[in-house]
Amino acid sequence: MRIILFGPPGCGKGTQAVLISEALSIPHLSTGDMLRNAVSSKSEIGLKAKDIMEKGGLVSDEVVLSIVQERVANSDSKKGFILDGFPRTVNQAERLDLILNEEQKIDCVLRIKVDEDEIIKRLIDRGRNDDKPDIIKNRFKSYNAETQPLIPFYETREILFNIDGMQEVEKVSAEIKKVLSEF
Ligand code: AMP
Repeated sequence: MRIILFGPPGCGKGTQAVLISEALSIPHLSTGDMLRNAVSSKSEIGLKAKDIMEKGGLVSDEVVLSIVQERVANSDSKKGFILDGFPRTVNQAERLDLILNEEQKIDCVLRIKVDEDEIIKRLIDRGRNDDKPDIIKNRFKSYNAETQPLIPFYETREILFNIDGMQEVEKVSAEIKKVLSEF
């Protein structure tokens, strides 16, 4: 199964992605994790991404697409995958369609809905480098401007499922499992 986990920063995507990945035995592909690894290893991609990530902006589509393309071509992605943090722009979504061939279509987009104030609290508690208040603000700005338009994009395909992310982790996970069990 090919799944996209979608939602604003701090909505719990990462946690849920790990749970789905374990339950379905499919790889968890987080572009945020891949980019953070690239930054730590000081690779060419890492050097390009570092400043933008530190400011809470979006890394260029070209850079992100190059890492996703390589990753989905990996043999462990043949039986499916869960994308976390990608796509984040309509252009990325369109390019993803081109990367995946006809038999590899995205089956389902899980949109985790949460309340913005609650998210900000969670992000501050998490305390990651890019979780400082003005950076959080920028990450929301990027989300609202660039990523929100993906909702109608996937809604018209009728593969978007809304999940209530304001519940405990276990309940969110149960809601996701219920949606996935119908595939
Ligand atoms: P995340 O862990 O998904 O919140 O990603 C952390 C940071 O990595 C984001 O704030 C962006 O700067 C960058 N990033 C991750 N995924 C993408 C993407 N699909 N497009 C552009 N930038 C991304």
